[in-house]
Amino acid sequence: MNKEDRITPLFEDLKKVLEGKVEDAQLRNTIKTYIEDYGVDENRAKAAIIKKFDPSTTSGFVTADTVSKKIGDLTGTEMNIDLTVKIVYVESREVSIRGKATPILSGIIGDDTGTCSFTIWDRDDITLIKGGTYSFRNAYTKLFRNQAQVNIGTRGKIEEVDADIDVRSTQMPSSEPTVAKIGDLTEGMGSVTVTGRILSIEARNVIANNEPKTVYSGIISDESGKVQYSAWNDFSLNEGDTIRVKNAYVRSWRGIPQLNMGDRTEVEKVDDNLIELDDTVNRRTVAEVINVGGAIDVEIDGMAIDLREGSGLIGRCPTCNRAVRDGECSLHGRVEPVADLRMKLIIDDGTGAISAIVDRGNTEGITGISLSEAERMSGDAGDPSVVSRRIAEIVLMRKVSVNGNVLSDEYGPTMIVKGISFKPVDVKAGAERLYEEMEATL
Ligand SMILES: [Zn+2]
Repeated sequence: MNKEDRITPLFEDLKKVLEGKVEDAQLRNTIKTYIEDYGVDENRAKAAIIKKFDPSTTSGFVTADTVSKKIGDLTGTEMNIDLTVKIVYVESREVSIRGKATPILSGIIGDDTGTCSFTIWDRDDITLIKGGTYSFRNAYTKLFRNQAQVNIGTRGKIEEVDADIDVRSTQMPSSEPTVAKIGDLTEGMGSVTVTGRILSIEARNVIANNEPKTVYSGIISDESGKVQYSAWNDFSLNEGDTIRVKNAYVRSWRGIPQLNMGDRTEVEKVDDNLIELDDTVNRRTVAEVINVGGAIDVEIDGMAIDLREGSGLIGRCPTCNRAVRDGECSLHGRVEPVADLRMKLIIDDGTGAISAIVDRGNTEGITGISLSEAERMSGDAGDPSVVSRRIAEIVLMRKVSVNGNVLSDEYGPTMIVKGISFKPVDVKAGAERLYEEMEATL
């Protein structure tokens, strides 16, 4: 496909969304810049351009007219489509989005052209029944790990349809029984057997399809890694038990695989000696984590190769905690920002690179610069960027060890860092660090 062919469809889509907000010629040029000069894919270009010309846009795109589509034709860039689908699998849960408990329904939908995963955001007014047929209206799609995912936001509509659909299984979880290591679990595994130790368990009462149910969840580990599990039955699980789980399936949340024990799952207690956990359990390479989409509680060693924009001394909205730009919160307008310190690092371990978001405590710890000191530096220089420049001098091109959870979204894999430290590479680096720590205390 030549480049002109990539620009025109994007132009037609964006023209509808940005009606009256930008001249045609300017829009076409901007698309060209993103696609040809920046080399970004259509999906990201679209999101970036909408944001550029219509900063008030939040998630979900509003277009004048919708198009009916089949799952097999989805590209992951649709902004407003209608689908008629059968529910292959559905689960409800609550997730925390910017600190707010938000109900979501997610699972797999199918039609006669294929299957894909879906998520319905922040809607407690919708009940879906497995095997039922529904029309999804005003849906949008995103591309995740090369597969289109269907999303319904607050503008979307869902109606039950009196029809049956013969689902063609394309991306259905494979039903071939697979024996897997926990570190290799990835989205789409449909009948998996793992052996591991229950590290934690908690019971929660939830409402699923209008009925109260108890769901058990926690963390299970083997030598290759840890994974969150959830069980919809009481399998008499106990903390510390070593168990073999047969016929479980894997679903991902923001790229992080989770092991689900459903109606068909069998659990048996096995000999504790089958699993020997030591302190290398959490060690992974960037490539290993990217291959499975994400992971909890992993440790990665690599080089800090870049400090991204938005690092150093930043201001946050006192209401929603979002980072503010020029004193403006994207949601709450002009606010009196609360100062914070953070790093957005890119860490490369030779197998790949991930972003790492480092909070104030860890940033203060590794740089030796406290928030109050950062504010003083910024005040003296009359420029907050003096802080990020100083941080870059301290951390860039140094070997670090980071640990935390790695999730993936359309911007790629990101670690939410729980701990970070320099890896001593040689005596000189060690001496420099000592010097920096002394300097920081002066
Ligand atoms: Zn705000």
